[in-house]
Amino acid sequence: MIPYGRQEITPADIAAVVEVLQSDYLTQGPVVPLFEAAVARHVGAAHAVAVNSATSALHIACLALGLGPGDRLWTSPVTFVASANCGRYCGADVEFVDIDPRTYNLCPVALERKLEGAARQGRLPKVVVAVHLSGQSCDMAAIHALGQRYGFRIIEDASHAIGGKYRGEFIGNCRYSDIAVFSFHPVKIITTAEGGMALTQDPALAASMARLRSHGITRDPDEMTHLPDGPWYYQQLELGLNYRMTELQAALGLSQLQRLDAYVAERHALAHRYDCLLSSLPLITPWQHPDSYSGLHLYVIRLRLDEIASSHRDVFEALRARGIGVNLHYIPVYLQPYYRQLGCRPGDCPEAERYYGEAISLPMFHTLGEDRQDAVVQALTEVLSS
Ligand SMILES: *Cc1c(COP(=O)(O)O)cnc(C)c1O
Repeated sequence: MIPYGRQEITPADIAAVVEVLQSDYLTQGPVVPLFEAAVARHVGAAHAVAVNSATSALHIACLALGLGPGDRLWTSPVTFVASANCGRYCGADVEFVDIDPRTYNLCPVALERKLEGAARQGRLPKVVVAVHLSGQSCDMAAIHALGQRYGFRIIEDASHAIGGKYRGEFIGNCRYSDIAVFSFHPVKIITTAEGGMALTQDPALAASMARLRSHGITRDPDEMTHLPDGPWYYQQLELGLNYRMTELQAALGLSQLQRLDAYVAERHALAHRYDCLLSSLPLITPWQHPDSYSGLHLYVIRLRLDEIASSHRDVFEALRARGIGVNLHYIPVYLQPYYRQLGCRPGDCPEAERYYGEAISLPMFHTLGEDRQDAVVQALTEVLSS
């Protein structure tokens, strides 16, 4: 089976992890800060807080922005459930804004319409989570302008997007947001096995997230409510968690980061090749907005079902039967039983449901190679013409 995504581990990665295993610190040592500084420098953010997953990063981002019971978080329905669950962890209500039919990202026009209605009803969101699906940036300038007008804060869920750019600048520099979050799960662009990071330009948000990842505890006298009792002293200022990244994970991430730009370039070469090889088939290849240089975590095609004899499900199953590890990113989050039980209904976001009925993620990872890519194209060509 050719998987849809796969990590690459090099001898240099292994050596970096072994070096940490032989050192004094397995956690809370010098490598996590080095990894944070390297990612922050790479993307142009002032501060970075490494944690044990992007899910954890989203959670502490919401907490740092003050999200709580009675507040609302809005996000895209076409995303992994974590983009929405972070609001629920904080006790907030979660609502969904339909997608743009070309980028499949949260649609700024739909967002504006929903904001107008919410303003009249006094139901405005406190936080909007903009998800950069497949690695292509949302229209951040438009979302940021709406944030200024309607007073919501912005988290970029950039789990797919490290190494990508928006308007010529790296995603993660938070020019149009409060906080951006990366994932280092093995299917993502670079990996730490499990791991995530929150980036921000705001020193107060960074300090708050750094405390929240470690029990809400500070050892910085400047953050304390009174002078330390002695050199042993620490203070718990709020209810935090243990979301720390280990030194082993950070060493792996630091080593992988050296190859980030090469990985994204290789993904672009593969995507360009898919675009050409698939151009005569009854499907839509991923459209790229001119403002975007995508991280290309995913390569999502949409079937033109009116030109095909088989159903979406038939095509999907036939590809799997031929050893092509296709996937579907994503089931609209509000169709999950958990969200239906909270009041969401089929039909809430029609564009997202149309997408769900036609989308298939083809294998896309930097070590895919042309031979395996040709096998994917061959299988798809056969399946669509049968
Ligand atoms: C993978 C992913 C997450 C969660 O990442 P973890 O590091 O596995 O917690 C969140 N949002 C999106 C869009 C993702 O793809």
